[in-house]
Amino acid sequence: MSEARTAAPEWQVVIVKHGTRSTTRSEAFMNHAFYDEPDGPFRLDYFFWVLRDGDDVVIVDTGYSGAEGDRRGRDVLVDPIEAVRALGIDPLAGHPVVITHAHYDHIGNVAAFANSPIHIARAELDFWTGRMADKTLFAHFGDPTTVEALARAREEGRLEAFADHVDVAPGVRVTAVGGHTPGQAIVEVQTSEGAVVLASDAMHFHEELEGDKLFQSMADLPLSFEVLEELRSRPVAHLVSGHDAGELARHTPLGGALDGLAATIGIRR
Ligand SMILES: [Zn+2]
Repeated sequence: MSEARTAAPEWQVVIVKHGTRSTTRSEAFMNHAFYDEPDGPFRLDYFFWVLRDGDDVVIVDTGYSGAEGDRRGRDVLVDPIEAVRALGIDPLAGHPVVITHAHYDHIGNVAAFANSPIHIARAELDFWTGRMADKTLFAHFGDPTTVEALARAREEGRLEAFADHVDVAPGVRVTAVGGHTPGQAIVEVQTSEGAVVLASDAMHFHEELEGDKLFQSMADLPLSFEVLEELRSRPVAHLVSGHDAGELARHTPLGGALDGLAATIGIRR
């Protein structure tokens, strides 16, 4: 047995910033006028995450597709699939892919991982195939082209819908929490720095957590506040947001081909 097999899992978390957008505080926060504070410029970044432990890889979210980026006027700083390749990872190698929720900016390139098991909460799948999915307030955030990719994954036996939580690898637990979307998931990862929680859009910005202010679009408001409470109560080394423009600066720059666009938590052993 090699040491890597017997040792406790110790993942490196690579945070990749693939997009960015300038907006306003009143657009970013739901009912911003209630807070009695001035409006102002606000930037949000778009991330996905790559977990590595030796040769083991888990992909968490896939960013938005070039087509959706164009349609919505979003810049693409680096194509997420090119970023994956730049990390020395073949997207066709069959590494597990976690989709934290089915919004366009998280699921957009799922088709590129054509040999991977795709892990997504059952509640999320049910919602996007259910009768509420075409309501504009929800559909605005969808990417219809990904429906086909999920159907193909299902046909090929690669779609792994989980109920409450699933360990996609030792030391990588995905838990459905809901709130932002009905099956929004968070990912807890064991690293050399301790436990790390990738909150994804259960916490878009750290200000959402610190100020108890919700993002513009949340499917279930009371549950969203409960999820923030739960995140606050977790004793973790790092809580990583889904869209905070300050997120990369909180961590160690990765350098290399993704210089300026990626940071790391823990080291790859
Ligand atoms: Zn998002």
